[in-house]
Amino acid sequence: MTKTIHIIGAGLAGSEAAWQAARMGVPVILHEMRPDKGTPAHHTGNCAELVCSNSFRSDDAQYNAVGLLHEEMRRMNSLIMREGQKAAVPAGGALAVDRDIFSEGVTKALQNHPNITIETGEITQIPKDWDNVIIATGPLTSDALAAQIATMTGEKELAFFDAIAPIVHRESINMNIAWMQSRYDKAEGLGTGKDYINCPMTKDQYDAFIAELTTAEYGLFKEWELPSGAQTLAEAEIDTPYFDGCMPIEIMAARGHETLRFGPMKPVGLTNPHVPEGREHQPHAIVQLRQDNALGTLYNIVGFQTKMKWGEQTRIFRMIPGLENAEFARLGGLHRNTFINSPKLLDTQLRLKSRPQIRFAGQITGCEGYVESAAVGLMTGRMAAAQALGQTFETPPITTAHGALLNHITGGADAKTFQPMNVNFGLFPPPENPFVEMPGGKRKKLRGKDRKKAYTDRALTDLNEWLNNDRKAA
Ligand SMILES: Cc1cc2nc3c(=O)[nH]c(=O)nc-3n(C[C@H](O)[C@H](O)[C@H](O)COP(=O)(O)OP(=O)(O)OC[C@H]3O[C@@H](n4cnc5c(N)ncnc54)[C@H](O)[C@@H]3O)c2cc1C
Repeated sequence: MTKTIHIIGAGLAGSEAAWQAARMGVPVILHEMRPDKGTPAHHTGNCAELVCSNSFRSDDAQYNAVGLLHEEMRRMNSLIMREGQKAAVPAGGALAVDRDIFSEGVTKALQNHPNITIETGEITQIPKDWDNVIIATGPLTSDALAAQIATMTGEKELAFFDAIAPIVHRESINMNIAWMQSRYDKAEGLGTGKDYINCPMTKDQYDAFIAELTTAEYGLFKEWELPSGAQTLAEAEIDTPYFDGCMPIEIMAARGHETLRFGPMKPVGLTNPHVPEGREHQPHAIVQLRQDNALGTLYNIVGFQTKMKWGEQTRIFRMIPGLENAEFARLGGLHRNTFINSPKLLDTQLRLKSRPQIRFAGQITGCEGYVESAAVGLMTGRMAAAQALGQTFETPPITTAHGALLNHITGGADAKTFQPMNVNFGLFPPPENPFVEMPGGKRKKLRGKDRKKAYTDRALTDLNEWLNNDRKAA
């Protein structure tokens, strides 16, 4: 007999996972604590409730990575995309939805599916006899279950706040200004002595940068995010349980003009090779960027976690010499967010290595966003169903949006600095042919829209091939 899958959490990920597994003929019990027990952000008892914005972001499958994810999900019979389409409201190139029509549509579809049973109630402990489990309890996982997850993963591997430093596309960094060097040229571990990208600042540039940081607009924590209900950043500074090394840079800057120069921006052990002979090679301050994914396409700005508003981040970080034209794969943030260190803990089938009967899906895996959560749910549902059916599940190629996202959270990202991530083209391998052929036998470097189109064309071709080879799991 086919074994039942227990899915905990009927949010974006759990709902999609249940739908996918049920479509494959596997019985599913979907456990949801709402409306019996709420979260600080949910307001209804509906499945797949959208807790904040009503947007699934860009629906452009040709030039945008999240639009591509939409299209891939549609090709895999996603319930979230189907109901999103039915509930769509005008929003230009984005897919935005009427949130009530959307979540009621998802709830009805799940209730009406013969293979799905929805059980209301908080799961505080995973019963020992459940042998095919998906934990999809999201960024606001209940305390009791979070405690059990911490026991299973080790407390250090479960975070309750994210502390996100911005991530930059490597190709947008001006290496005529920046250079590669590790502090004191130290070649440790996997390092070569040239592991970091360094952006130099003169005294005037540093002074101007600090002035902007300390007067920038930043977002406030929501009251429930803070243990004591502090409302201002100053109060948050006192009350927020910042993890080691996770203090926002604007708070560090506000503590003293030189604080950053003795912290993440210290210039010691670095020599600027672009400075002409005979001049001072050590800059007044530096900003360092560290490789963020195995592909080497993304670099994070070291120590620059921030709560500044996104527009402010783009404006102020582009003041950094070498980052004038930086394209950001992700901007910084700091929120209440429960997530595990997936690159370390999960195998490629999203199973907990130490307890392979348990899989994770959604935001708790360290993906970020409604659509990404649902996409990881889609994959996890298929993986768990394949296991129940005795089939092997081949993961989609890394050239697809699903494959790129899965690869990132299950090992592509650096486990030491792992933080939640949206889908973006930096997670994909660069196009094999980085040139476009022009009339007259000339060729030019793939950039901008041409480059994005190369990613999406390749992704959809490879996805179709994968789906054709994998009919059973589709
Ligand atoms: C305040 C906030 C605002 C956000 N805003 C946005 C946004 O505007 N746009 C965006 O793209 N992303 C946003 N996100 C990020 C993320 O995309 C959403 O949280 C998304 O809903 C995550 O999907 P999920 O399925 O992983 O979790 P959820 O959708 O949160 O689903 C998890 C479900 O598990 C249930 N649950 C928890 N613990 C238990 C338990 N022990 N037993 C049974 N059930 C349990 C919860 O009630 C919930 O229904 C936001 C996150 C937060 C916290």
